[in-house]
Amino acid sequence: MNSIGEAELRELIVALSGRVAAARDLLNRLDAALGDGDHGTSVSVAFAVAVEDIRTLDEPSLSAIWLTTAKALMNRMGGASGAIFGTFFLRGVTLLHDRDRLGKAEMQALLQAGLDGVKARGKAKLGDKTMVDALEPAVVAFAEADDYDSAWRSAAAAARAGTEATKGLVARQGRARFLGQRAVGHIDPGAMTAALMFEAIDDYWRANCR
Ligand code: ADP
Ligand code: MG
Repeated sequence: MNSIGEAELRELIVALSGRVAAARDLLNRLDAALGDGDHGTSVSVAFAVAVEDIRTLDEPSLSAIWLTTAKALMNRMGGASGAIFGTFFLRGVTLLHDRDRLGKAEMQALLQAGLDGVKARGKAKLGDKTMVDALEPAVVAFAEADDYDSAWRSAAAAARAGTEATKGLVARQGRARFLGQRAVGHIDPGAMTAALMFEAIDDYWRANCR
């Protein structure tokens, strides 16, 4: 398969939701070391709401699926990170209007819009120890690949590598910035969530779309 339609996009959100729910305790533990310990719970509740709201959409177009996900993250995650994660989805919604399938180039534009939105909203740059450290290398790797198959694979690997690298960093955004050097040695939970998202998509793609 070389494009993603409504059914696949809906199933992708289900896959993301399942992956973050399975990692809820891990994400809470990572956030307990650097913040307030709620990240796993917030993100898994928000994605579960997204899945349910998508299931009950009257017209589950690509843009409605993306907008519903954005709203669930913004309304149910709370805090700064809900708004920032929600922005990732919200920024892409207009690119999906009047589309019924997404080829690799359209998906690339969607991911790039999301990353640009996250950076504009949260002001984090690469190396600030946030989700951007996973998202940005993933989007770059996706863009450099020739087809969907290799794009998801290398995006997931790049997101994971970026996430692991947050361990060595001092935080310059979010609650963790108050820890100074004490943040070093801990992986950023938001970056981990982004890595899990790309890994879930890659696994879904491999199992269902090749
Ligand atoms: P809160 O800090 O409000 O409790 P969460 O625990 O859900 O929110 O999320 C924390 C994550 O949010 C961090 O691990 C980091 O990846 C991300 N984050 C925080 N501030 C920013 C920012 N300015 N830009 C991008 N991501 C951010
Ligand atoms: Mg938190």
